[in-house]
Amino acid sequence: MLLGALRQQVVDVGLRALAVGVVHGTAGNMSLRDRETGLVAISPSGMPYPSVTAADVVVVDVDGIIRDGHRKPSSEMPLHTMIMKAHDRVGAIVHTHSHYSTVVSTIRDELPPILTEVTQVIGPRVPVTRYGISGTPDFGASVLEALDDEGMAVLLRNHGLIAFGKDFDEALMVAGIVEEAAKVYVHALAANGGREPRLVPANLIPGLRARFVATYGQGTA
Ligand code: 13P
Ligand code: ZN
Repeated sequence: MLLGALRQQVVDVGLRALAVGVVHGTAGNMSLRDRETGLVAISPSGMPYPSVTAADVVVVDVDGIIRDGHRKPSSEMPLHTMIMKAHDRVGAIVHTHSHYSTVVSTIRDELPPILTEVTQVIGPRVPVTRYGISGTPDFGASVLEALDDEGMAVLLRNHGLIAFGKDFDEALMVAGIVEEAAKVYVHALAANGGREPRLVPANLIPGLRARFVATYGQGTA
């Protein structure tokens, strides 16, 4: 089986996403790039996460041609392959239907800097796409229009969230942080009578991020 270890990672990240509640049923999809061959392992369409095995994961190239696997790939394969093709830095993609991220996608054009953690890990804002037609290249185009060279997540209008990383650990972490920030934002709006809550001061964000990258965790001074 081609790329067996990567296919297993796709299975495992689906179960992890299910466990943390950012996907439900058969919603959402995941893909992982193999740096040696350039091929992409992507989740199968419409299969409940607990039933998926490595053999069900499909291997495609960045032009969307199936290279191995007996299942139909995710209906969002154009979305995944278009992003992989346009952004070499992206190694893993997690698309979720996270509840609060979806709420924000219906009321705003971006998730503003509501939490320090978001500004440190992700950056000043998370953009929302225009409405894109799910399962078509138009959906991929809507994300590419919203995604800059450093973006780690995009909210999908009236649909959900897409998060990126060098690997699944990073993409899933980003998805979790965005969902938490969206939750705080929605609650803060409600608690504040619908008025915009206080945000992280824009002039401090570059410094917050630089400091975090340079100093946070065990591997740094
Ligand atoms: P798939 O099961 O085809 O991956 O579709 C789920 C989904 O989230 C569509 O946007
Ligand atoms: Zn979806």
